[in-house]
This record gives sequence, C-alpha cells and structure tokens, in this order.
Amino acid sequence: MQTHEISSRFLDHFKRNGHTQVPSASLILEDPNLLFVNAGMVQFKPYFLGQAPAPWHTATSVQKCVRTGDIDEVGKTTRHNTFFQMAGNFSFGDYFKAGAIEFAWELITNSVDNGGYGFDPDRLWATVYNDDDEAFDLWRKIAGLPEERIQRRDGKDNYWDMGIPGPGGPCSEIYYDRGPQHGRDGGPVADEDRYLEIWNLVFMQDERGELSPKEGHKPVGSLPTKNIDTGMGIERVATLLQGVENVYETDLVRPVIGKAEEMSGRRYGSGSTVDDVRFRVIADHARSGMMLIADGVTPGNEARGYVLRRLLRRIVRSVRLLGVNEPVLGEFAAVVRDTMSPSYPDLANDFPRIESVMRKEEEAFLATLASGSKIFDLAAEQIKADGRALVPGDKAFQLHDTYGFPIDLTLEMAAEKGLTVDEAGFRELMAEQRARAKADAASRKTGHGDQTVYRDLLAQGPTEFLGYEVLSAEATV
Ligand code: ATP
Ligand code: MG
Ligand code: MG
Ligand code: MG
Repeated sequence: MQTHEISSRFLDHFKRNGHTQVPSASLILEDPNLLFVNAGMVQFKPYFLGQAPAPWHTATSVQKCVRTGDIDEVGKTTRHNTFFQMAGNFSFGDYFKAGAIEFAWELITNSVDNGGYGFDPDRLWATVYNDDDEAFDLWRKIAGLPEERIQRRDGKDNYWDMGIPGPGGPCSEIYYDRGPQHGRDGGPVADEDRYLEIWNLVFMQDERGELSPKEGHKPVGSLPTKNIDTGMGIERVATLLQGVENVYETDLVRPVIGKAEEMSGRRYGSGSTVDDVRFRVIADHARSGMMLIADGVTPGNEARGYVLRRLLRRIVRSVRLLGVNEPVLGEFAAVVRDTMSPSYPDLANDFPRIESVMRKEEEAFLATLASGSKIFDLAAEQIKADGRALVPGDKAFQLHDTYGFPIDLTLEMAAEKGLTVDEAGFRELMAEQRARAKADAASRKTGHGDQTVYRDLLAQGPTEFLGYEVLSAEATV
C-alpha cells in the first residue's frame, strides 16, 4: 500500500466516524516555545487547554512534522525520520479511552478490502501507563489482547506532556511485532527494533505544573474536559505494509536513495553499513530540508534557519563521503518534488524558489569546504613535517567552528592522509563551547523574543517531548 493511500484511508476511516478533516498546519506555527510543529496536536493546543472553544467535537488530520531531536537517530535506527507525517484523531471532550482504542483497533485490523490496513491482530501489542487499569481492561475487552501482550510502562514512556506546563495525560501505544529475525522476544520493553511503535493514543486530561508527571510528580489540576489526541506514524505503517526494512525504504523516501546511487555509482545495501547510513541520511534530509523551505524557512545561523542549514549541509557532506563532488541538491529536490507533490502541491508550484534556496546553500557550503580544506591541508603538511600523526583537537575545533566542518569530515580527510584526530580534545572544546552558550543563555533569562527562548532551550539540552521541540544542543554539522 502506497503512502498516499495510507493517509487517505486514515482520514476516510475517521470521517466515516463523524470526524471533521482538518488540513495540516504549516511546519512553522507562531509559538515562542516551538521550533517546528512536531505533532498533530500542536494546532489544537488552545482547544485542549480551554483557551478557545473547539470548532468541532472531533477532528482528524495528517500533520507534517519535523523533529530535530531525532536528527542524530536518522539512518541509524529503522524508524526515525526528521520529517514525517503524523496521522491523528482528536476528541475535544467527546469520546475518551474506549472510543480511541476502538477506532484505532478497527482501522489497523480491518481487512484491506474493508478500508483498513489488515494487520494481523496476533502481532499487535499495547502499552499502558503504570496503573491505568481502565486502559488495560479496554485493550482486553475491545481488542481481545491477551494480558501478556499489554505492557505497563512508567511515565517516561507512557505519560505525555509538552515538556512545559500545559496539557498532558497518560498514553497508550500500539506496537507491531516484526518477528524474531528483528530481535529479542518479550515485547516493546525488551526490544524496540523488533517491536515497532506505530501509534500513540494520549488520554489528555491533566494540567501539568512546573514538574512533570513523567518524573512521577502529580499534575496540578484537570483540564476542563477529557480529550483524545493520537498520532500514528504514516512512514512506519508504510514500512510494515510495504514489507521494507525501515522508514527510508518506503515509496516516498527511497527514490532519493536511488538518485544518490546513480550519482555515486555505489549501491545501497551492498554491505557497507557506513555507506547505507549516508544514503538514508541523504534521503531523509533532502525531504525534510525541502519541506522546511516550502514552509518559508531559509538557511541561516539562528534557530530554524540553522536547523535547515545543518540538514542541507549534512546531505552535501554525506554525498561527498560517497565520492560525489558535484553539486547535488537541485537533483535531489526534483526527486522529492516528484514523489511528494501529490500530497504537497506547493513543492511543484513553488519549485523554482525552493530549488534556488537549496542550490545557493550548497554553493556557500562548497566554498566554505574549499577554504577549510586548504587550512586542513596546510595543517596536515605541518604535522607530517614534524614527524607526528595526530591532528590536534583545537585544529578540528577550528575547522568546525570557523569553516563549519563536521567532525566526521575532518576524520575522513585525516584518514586519507594517514593521520588520526584527537577526537577527545575536540569534544572537550565542543563541551566548553556549549557550557559558554549555557552561561550566556542563563544571563539572558529575562529577555524576550525568539532567539532568547531558543538559547534558553538550547541550554537545557535536548529534551524528549511530544508537542514542543527544541534545537538539539549537539550539532552534528
Ligand atoms: P519513538 O519512541 O519511536 O521515538 P515516539 O514515542 O517519540 O516514537 P510519539 O511522540 O508517540 O513518538 O509520536 C506518535 C507517532 O509518530 C509514533 O507512534 C510514531 O509512529 C510516529 N513517529 C514519532 N517520531 C517519528 C519519527 N522521528 N519518524 C517517523 N515517525 C515517527
Ligand atoms: Mg515511543
Ligand atoms: Mg510514543
Ligand atoms: Mg521519539
């Protein structure tokens, strides 16, 4: 089943059941805490909080999401994209736990002929929050799941909140068992590669205060109504329904890998793990980069623009490591346009602008690479002349800081010259720089405006939460 059809089946199922279809919000919503929209609920937040009356009792959407916190996972796990599509159904004080479980179970287990995805019920598992006996019993009753396929998990996994005071609630996740060839028995708690999380049902009922129930603290109050917020990962369902290994091999992502194979003459899946990760990074980032540009982000050195810059430069770097030195972003953009524009027509309509943003960023990075490479070559000659074989950490740091050289590019270039790099020294300097940024942010705590907020968030380090996501403190580019 193609990805476009997975989305439309989801929406049709919920529309049949009385939900109003709401279009995806832009990836950029004006909210000082928010870098990018990274969950379906974000555009509905005021309704959950009771700040505005919900225009509908129930709604459904397929939301564009970007999760910067997952950047470092991309290509290494089987399940994390930076850009992905989250299908969701929402109840604003209408149905609650039973309704959410029933609707979800029906869609995933109904046969394909009957509008569903046709998953084998015997391969499905559910998790519930610690003492949520109500959800546990509903999984038994509605889905007929045996007790041993319902796992209880603590707040870290099964309590959802935004990472800041606001709405929250216990959640219940649905996992699919991909079989013993993918890992250990024992359910999601034992192995999350084998058991792929496909859907999260959040029972949004609490108001969290300063301290999160994720860490065992009590919520400070209740929301005006009991609500439902769910998120199903379209790419993850596609992985399973298309019988491929991971989210990068699904129909809307894999074509970019094909283009990179064509350009590099190397084959994806031919035994080189590092090359395969590069192929996946390229495919993932080409898509997320383009989706961000389509929604108005341009590369820069702050906040959103910096994330975009990281994504685009990481493509160029990865392609280079596959042995391609020519400009590539324009070609990848065309592939992403062709696969994604049926769902996102802006990619085609606005293509000349999007492509030009990508090309310009690539030119700028290639120029930086050229001057950084000269610095590196001079340093390497000197090191060799001195009879040494180690590139000092401060040189790697300078290349990173001044020329935007990612550390693995420096490592690769050093290896080509038979040198090694003092990576520990490099990381120490990076840590010092982060500490300075943190101190800087602390001294600006009283300020306002986007940048300050992002700096504060940056100083807190990467966080794992659903609705609001911050710039990861550890830049990979
Ligand atoms: P994981 O534990 O695998 O990182 P999550 O618990 O962080 O996922 P949720 O916040 O519950 O994910 O998001 C709802 C759904 O969105 C998930 O069940 C999954 O199907 C999908 N999803 C989440 N993150 C990603 C991602 N980075 N790439 C693709 N799909 C994702
Ligand atoms: Mg999870
Ligand atoms: Mg989850
Ligand atoms: Mg996650």
